[in-house]
Formats: sequence, structure tokens, C-alpha cells
Amino acid sequence: MLLGCIADDFTGATDLANNLVRNGMRTVQTIGVPGGALAEDVDAVVVALKSRTIAAGEAVAQSLAALTWLKRAGCRQFYFKYCSTFDSTPQGNIGPVAEALLEALGAGIAIACPAFPTNARTIYMGNLFVGELPLSESGMRHHPLTPMTDANLVRVLQAQSRGKVGLVAWTAVAAGEQAIRARLAALEAGGVRLTVVDAITDTDLHAIAAACAEHPLITAGSGVAIGLPENFRRAGLLPPRANAAELPRISGRAAVISGSCSQATNGQVAHWIESGRPAIRIGPFDIARGTQVAAEALRQAAPLLGSGPVLFYATAAPEEVKAVQTKLGVAEAGALVEQALARIAQGLVEAGVTRLVVAGGETAGAVVQALGISALKIGPQIDPGVPWTATQGAHPILLALKSGNFGSRDFFVKSLEQLDA
Ligand code: ADP
Repeated sequence: MLLGCIADDFTGATDLANNLVRNGMRTVQTIGVPGGALAEDVDAVVVALKSRTIAAGEAVAQSLAALTWLKRAGCRQFYFKYCSTFDSTPQGNIGPVAEALLEALGAGIAIACPAFPTNARTIYMGNLFVGELPLSESGMRHHPLTPMTDANLVRVLQAQSRGKVGLVAWTAVAAGEQAIRARLAALEAGGVRLTVVDAITDTDLHAIAAACAEHPLITAGSGVAIGLPENFRRAGLLPPRANAAELPRISGRAAVISGSCSQATNGQVAHWIESGRPAIRIGPFDIARGTQVAAEALRQAAPLLGSGPVLFYATAAPEEVKAVQTKLGVAEAGALVEQALARIAQGLVEAGVTRLVVAGGETAGAVVQALGISALKIGPQIDPGVPWTATQGAHPILLALKSGNFGSRDFFVKSLEQLDA
């Protein structure tokens, strides 16, 4: 095992794992800190926590527990993954977790680089841009939990860190690996523990990754990870792997569960229905009335599943969601729908479904928990940020977990067809 990663949320963990696999590292994502050893021999592990918005002390404790497990598993380098929009509050949790990991590893300095040019997240002179807009003018300024009102990451990180925060400006990054190394050494000598690093292109990310080859700890979005497999190959630690994304071939029935109400998911559900494929609607008011909604949906699907995939969806347009939330409450409606969809997932697996697409971050979390899944081997990419995965254990199933805004309009059809290609 070479690389041990700690991610502060579930879909972010998958995004990181996807980048590692695409660059030739066999990767498993675990849900929380594993209880024991992994079943499979891999090059990288991503421990998915849910630590982005919990209390800083708890985030530190969970991250250190993950680090202990990853160290014991033999990892030689560690990666703390957060969001490419640096989602955090003045209390953390990026600064506190990064500093605790640095200390636990006895490391001198670590970079902080959420840049992901492929997704239009770039950093210049310490300022994070989302597309053409500074972070503080992007939609992130209205985020309900982690509103980002300052685009200057040096200031943002300094506010949540005890040690001094520095900057490796783009002038050094553009000059390449050696210039970045020199700047990092100068910052470390000046007492800096965490330093924001500018990056505008993938070339920048590769140079940054090369310059950090010997760093015990890297803190970043999923972008910097594209350069790490090459570091290990150059050091003779990682053989070329053409099959890093290989998953077991599993035959069986297929289904789609959609609990996301994002614009992208609404389009994907519409595409499925327009193409004439079977779809069963899960109504929040029916669930609230105590009707056996999950059981009824499974009963309705039973004769259909034998001839092709069936979609179960609570997905609705914004006005409809608002009406439901006004009547039932936001959290209550969410929980009711998630429980029903998770129950449906259980029923589907019992009915022989082995290929399951799930849309929605929270929905995916509920499904994974209901199915008792503790680890996923990461397979081939379907769309940017969304790979097929396989559960570990005696009876593996294939799962594609798509967070709200990801995926093309034909994502549901395309993902299932990809398995038969
Ligand atoms: P996304 O990734 O798009 O944010 P999530 O699954 O994380 O999707 O969140 C969607 C939330 O909306 C879930 O809690 C889900 O249960 C809830 N939900 C789904 N359908 C409806 C609906 N028709 N009315 C109200 N809430 C819904």
C-alpha cells in the first residue's frame, strides 16, 4: 500500500479515488475507518469520513484514527482531501485537521491546494476562482453550511490554523518542480507549516505533485492526486497497471434509485422516462401517510426486473420539493424519502439486483448504510467524478453513486450500458 487518503466527505472521496485509478493506482474507498484489514491488495486507500462540518475536535479525532489505520496498513504517503471550493468555516475543519496530521506525522510543511482546473477551480496569488468568478462571488457564498465569503485562501486558512500559512505563487509553480521545491524549502525555513499553492493548469498540478514526492502529507482537492501515481512509478514503487480500474464481472439484474432533486438529476430521470423505460415514482406524501411505499414499489417492480432495469425515483422539480418541505419539514421529508429508497435498495438486492445506480449524495449515503457496505473497489469512470464501483465481500454488487449535479442527461442508460460493453 503506497498512498493513504483521508477525505472529509463521501462523494469527494470517490472523486479522489477516481483520479487515482485513472492514473494507474488500484484503489479502494472505505466508508469510515475500517474495522480490520482490507480483503484486496491495492495501491491506495481512501477513507471516506463525514467530517466537513462537524465540530473541529471531532474531525481531528476521526482523521487521526484514519491516519493510524492507514499507517498500520503500510502507506508511505498521506493525503487529506477536501472540497475544491475549500468548504470550511472560520473554526475549520481544514486547518485543524491538516495541522493535527502534520504533527502526528512529524512533517515539516504541507501544501494546501484545492485547485482542479478540469472543473474550473483555479488558484492565482492565493485567490481561488470558480470559473471566471472569485470564490466569494460564486454560488458558494450562499452555501447553507460553509458559506465562502473570502476568495483569499491564505487568509481563510490562516484564520483556522495555529501555525503560519504561506503562499507558493504561480511564478514559482510555472517555473516547475525545482522552483516549487526551492520555494517550499524557503517557506519551511521561515517557520511556515501550511502553504497555499497556486495552480491554473494540469501541468501546474503535475509539477506540484512532483515537488511534493517526499512530503509525508499532502492536503488538497482531488486535483493534485493526478500527479502522485507518476511519483510512485518514478521511484520504482508502482508498476505500470493497465488494469487498475478492473472490477469483477457480475451478471444479474439492474436498477436505478434516484433521490436527488438537482437540475441534472431531473434531466436524467426525464431522459429515462422519455426513452420508454419502466419507472416507479416514490411520493413523499404517501410515505408520510404511512403507506407501505417501499414494499408496494418492490411488488410493482418484481415482474419488470426480469426483462430490464427499473427506475425508482423521488426526484421532483423545485416547486414540488418546496411544497413537500413546507408540509413535512426539510429534514423530515429528506429522512423519510431516504429511508424509503434505502429500503427499496435492500429489497432489490434481495431480489437479485447486482447492478445499482444511485443518484444523490445523501441518498447514496443512506443506501450504502442500509446495504451494510464498508468498502468499495473503484472501477472505470462513467462521467467525470463518477466511477463504477464494486462492493467487497462474498457477494459483491456493482454500484454507481452519483452526486446531484454530476453526469450527462443519458447518465442512467449510459452507465448500465457501459457494463455490457
Ligand atoms: P443531491 O446530491 O442532489 O444533493 P441528495 O440525495 O444529497 O441529492 O439530497 C436530496 C434530498 O432530497 C434527500 O434527502 C432526499 O431524500 C430528498 N428528496 C428527494 N425527493 C424529494 C421530494 N420529492 N421532496 C422532498 N425531498 C426529497
